[in-house]
Amino acid sequence: MVATDTERLTLPVDGSFTISRGSSETTTVVVVRLTDEDGRRGIGAAAPAAYYGESADSAESVLPELLDIAAEVGDPSRQQTVERAMREHAPGEAAARAAVSVAIHDLAATQAGEPLYRRLGLDPAAAPATSYTVGIDSPAGMASAAQKAAGAGYPILKVKLGTDDDRARIDAIRKTAPQARIRVDANGAWTPEEAIEKMEWLANAGVEFVEQPVAAEDHAGLARVGDAGFLPVAADESCVTAEDVPAVADAVDIVVVKLMKCGGIRPAIRQIETARAHGLEVMLGCMVESMASLAGACHLAPLVEYADLDGSLLLADDPYEGVSLPSGQIDLSAVEAGTGVERVDEE
Ligand SMILES: [Mg+2]
Repeated sequence: MVATDTERLTLPVDGSFTISRGSSETTTVVVVRLTDEDGRRGIGAAAPAAYYGESADSAESVLPELLDIAAEVGDPSRQQTVERAMREHAPGEAAARAAVSVAIHDLAATQAGEPLYRRLGLDPAAAPATSYTVGIDSPAGMASAAQKAAGAGYPILKVKLGTDDDRARIDAIRKTAPQARIRVDANGAWTPEEAIEKMEWLANAGVEFVEQPVAAEDHAGLARVGDAGFLPVAADESCVTAEDVPAVADAVDIVVVKLMKCGGIRPAIRQIETARAHGLEVMLGCMVESMASLAGACHLAPLVEYADLDGSLLLADDPYEGVSLPSGQIDLSAVEAGTGVERVDEE
């Protein structure tokens, strides 16, 4: 590597994005670019989440040190060494570590002249379709967003709940998008009692599973909700890294893996395989984030049953492109080398 640089970008969300914890109209990411002797690029980005105690400021301040680690190791194919050293240096900055991890994986695969999924031995045809997220709004607003997404060809909706009237919202969405496969994410908003009551009618509405029905630390509550048996339960906030899998394994059916939670490509594979070893299914998820980082997760999609990789689709405008997502299909076949990520105005 001969050069590294970072760029902080504040990107407007298409409309606004609301979950049970709050609302946002922009997302701030820190893009990382590596350049080798032959001018080949590796690109990644951090999309830090305040919920996990990270911010664009914290990511931006630690990234020069993480890039120094990558530069010192030198060969971007030595991902094991870089990721281990980064984790020791910045255990609390998973998003910044993910940025560098995605960038070195992109550069190494680009140098090899192969798409990342191929370097990992994965079959692009095995990638599941991504869901499209409908954020919290009035019942009519959510129905109209669902109708728009279904009309654009997205076959799966991920509906954010945790409101004063969740039932009216699901009923309104069901009316306008009767064919859509629907998954629900409460982001920890419900008590176990509420969750069990709601999941009975969510099951009747044809919902596939419910993500994080109760608070992250309430493993007993998660287990109670799962034991009620109405719908499968997925752990997102309750399961941040591979090390968290054993503690939730008896309580849930699905683990949600995100690069920005676990800190990179290989930590994500480790979390996926740990979930597998505990008999769990896996959903790959994301933050509201640019394709600069999302593409890295797209290349792992052949490893999982469910994908929620719509972060870039939720932006009004993403300056990076990489993996195209026509009607939610994760189309890795067009990627020639690396993650495929390019800045739109630099092609
Ligand atoms: Mg979630």
